[in-house]
Parts: sequence; structure tokens; C-alpha cells
Amino acid sequence: MTNSELLVSWRDMPATHQPDWPDRAALGDVLTRLSAAPGLVTPSACESLRSRLAAVANGEAFALQGGDCAETFDGVTPDAIRNKTKTLLQMAVIFTYAAARPVVKIGRMAGQYAKPRSSPVETRDGVTLPVYLGDAVNGFDFDPAARVPDPARLWRMYEASRFTLDIVAGHARDGYAGLDQLHRWNRDFVANSPAGARYEELAYEIDHALRFMGACGVQLDELRSVEIFASHEGLLLDYENALTRIDPDSGLTYATSGHMLWIGERTRALDGAHVAYCRSIANPIGVKLGPTTTPAEVRSYVDILDPDRQPGRLTFITRMGARQIRDRLPGLIRAAQETGGKPTWISDPMHGNTFLAPSGHKTRRLADILDEVRGFFDVHRALGTHPGGIHVEFTGEDVTECIGGGAEILADDLHHRYESACDPRLNRSQSLDLAFDIAELL
Ligand code: PEP
Ligand code: MN
Repeated sequence: MTNSELLVSWRDMPATHQPDWPDRAALGDVLTRLSAAPGLVTPSACESLRSRLAAVANGEAFALQGGDCAETFDGVTPDAIRNKTKTLLQMAVIFTYAAARPVVKIGRMAGQYAKPRSSPVETRDGVTLPVYLGDAVNGFDFDPAARVPDPARLWRMYEASRFTLDIVAGHARDGYAGLDQLHRWNRDFVANSPAGARYEELAYEIDHALRFMGACGVQLDELRSVEIFASHEGLLLDYENALTRIDPDSGLTYATSGHMLWIGERTRALDGAHVAYCRSIANPIGVKLGPTTTPAEVRSYVDILDPDRQPGRLTFITRMGARQIRDRLPGLIRAAQETGGKPTWISDPMHGNTFLAPSGHKTRRLADILDEVRGFFDVHRALGTHPGGIHVEFTGEDVTECIGGGAEILADDLHHRYESACDPRLNRSQSLDLAFDIAELL
């Protein structure tokens, strides 16, 4: 498809959750600049991720997708990015060791700046303002000026994403992410956390195995480099479209804003613009499936988004809630099987388990999160399909946004350090707690 055909195909469909930009001329200028800017990721890296996800679908690898619910421009600092990367790497090591399989590492990073919201407005103390839609669109501060959508933010999103990708790629290249750095990732952490101590024991076991292999003459250079991919919800179609490029080598069209894009629970209408846009690009695509998803919808997603039944192209990210996963998932898996496709299945155990604490904070219980993952594994194992991975919201900081964990956070503790711009994230120690618990299922 050419870029102009692409434009027509999704623009003919209803696009929900798009900002109402007051300054259309400024929007046009930014989109023109983005259209001329270098892509953030390459088609060949998107293809690498697709082949890794194909291995996941075949049961040969496990996928870990995670990061902030909403990235913020203020959060784009070398420290914060390193800490998130560390959390991702530490969880991945726990899974790799437990499953004895490669773990495909996918950040919810470098592009996760726009949020669909359940209400367009927010009211505090009798004052009603437009709701915060992510740093890509407007400001978090409860202030009328901050909440006006500003197209200049789309350019900042592009730059923040590029900066993040540079830092992550730097760590992947400079050996920081290598398996010989297991203890270093944990250094700021081990003394005061049960999860850190448990991780340290695992790191010693791995060290020991590495030394043994080294002594046997096995070359360990490969363990010093890692692949970390970037993904985000492909929500703002003007932004995605401006960064869509045709790969001159293959003639295929790619979103170059990230390796993988997913379609959110609120924008997955079969005849909507988000599905139409994703159909036109060759990247790996995720679709979030909430509890109201029907088997017929699943069949249609496969037919529309993966007409060639290409392994690794389509990932279903289920987010049913711990109470519903066991009832809802089997019918959806069977529906996918009927299409002859083999999608990758990932569990998002966060978004179906959110509730309001008495203090007014949006939160989630670690116990519910783990229960949903257990249900996901149980159902797949009963049907003979592969529970391919997990999708979680976490940060590298010691925030208090979710309840539970080894260094237990109680509902009364949430106010201590609640910093999320949107949904509650696991802190670093809760992320490792969850990883160790899931490792037992592997
Ligand atoms: C999210 O991933 O932050 C999100 C909004 O999820 P969902 O579309 O599944 O509700
Ligand atoms: Mn979220």
C-alpha cells in the first residue's frame, strides 16, 4: 500500500479516542515535520521481533512486555530509564532460568505517551476540566491551560521516544544488560528487600553455571548483548500515520514509532480506524481482549489482521480480570484455533483487576494479578496451547501504587509514593515478587 492509500483506508473509518486539537494549523505543521523525520525503529528490527514472537507462539520462548502505564516527559531521564530497564532484565532473568527458554523482552517504552480515558472530563472540588490524555496530548496538572491539547507535544513524544531508545540500546550494547552484570542490577536493592535477596541467590546460581560453562571452554560473548524491543498502544493515528514508512527493500509498510503496536480494549472495534490502520502495517500487532470479547470477534481479528496466518504477526493480550479469565478465555482460544491461525497469547493481569481503594487511589492487588496469570496458564494448559507471556505495568522506582508483595504495601500505604500519571504500577520489588511466583508456573 502507498502512504496515500493508507491515509484513505483508515481515515474512512470512525476513529475513537482522538484528541480534539484546537489548533489545526499547528497540528498540520507537526505532522509534516514528523513525516519528514527519521523513523524511530527499522523494519528489520520489527521483523526480528515478529520472528521472536513466532517462537513464543510455538512454545519455544516466553514474552515479557512491561513498563509504565503512561510514560511522561519528566520521566525521560537516564536514571529512570535505566531503572525500568533493570526491572525488565531482572524479571526476564528469573523467567529465563525457570523456563530454560529465551525470553523476548519488550518494553512498554519509548512511545507509551497517549491514554484512552473512560471519561472525557475530570471533576475535583466542584471544578470540571478536560481529562489528562497522556503527555502526548495535554498536561497532567489540574489546570485549565495545561489540559488544552497541544500538538507540539507530538514532537516532544517523538524526541522523548528517540532519547529512550538511545539509552536502552546503549545499555544493550555496552554490556550493561549482559548476563555477567546480574549482581550489578541488584546492587542498590538487595539489602532491604526480600525480593532482592531472593534474586541475589538466583544470580549466584547463574554465576556458578556461567563459570562452569566458561571452564568447559564455552564462549560466553553472546550473553553480553541483549535485544530489547519497544511497544506502545497505537492510539493517536495522526502520529502513527506520520511515522509510517514504506520499506524500500520489501515494499512493505511499517509503523516506525515502535517495533510492536497494540490496539487497546477501548479502540478494538472491528470496523474502527485503529484496526484499519494496523491492518495496513507489517509490524507485529497486539490486540487487548477484555471480558466482553466474543469468539466471533477473535475470528475476525485473525481474518483482518493476519490474513496470511503469519507466525508472530498477531498477539492477543487478554485482560479479563482474575474472576473471569477461567470462564472467558477457553472460547476465545478455540475460536482462534478454528481460523487455522496460531496467534501469540499474552496475559495482561493488570487491567482487569483495578479498583478504587478507600483512600481514592486506583490500585491493584498482587494476589489478584497472580491469580489471573494462574488462570491464564491453567486454561492454556488444559487446551494444549501455549501461555506465551505476560504484559505488566511496572516501574524501576520504589512507588506505592499496588497492594501486596514481600515488602508488603497496604491500602493505607498508597499515599506514600503514588506517582503514576495513570494506572497503578508494580514497584521494582513487587515486579520481582510476581516474576518469582510466575516462574513457579513455568
Ligand atoms: C493500558 O494498557 O494502559 C490500557 C489502557 O489497557 P486496556 O486497553 O487493556 O484497558
Ligand atoms: Mn494502564
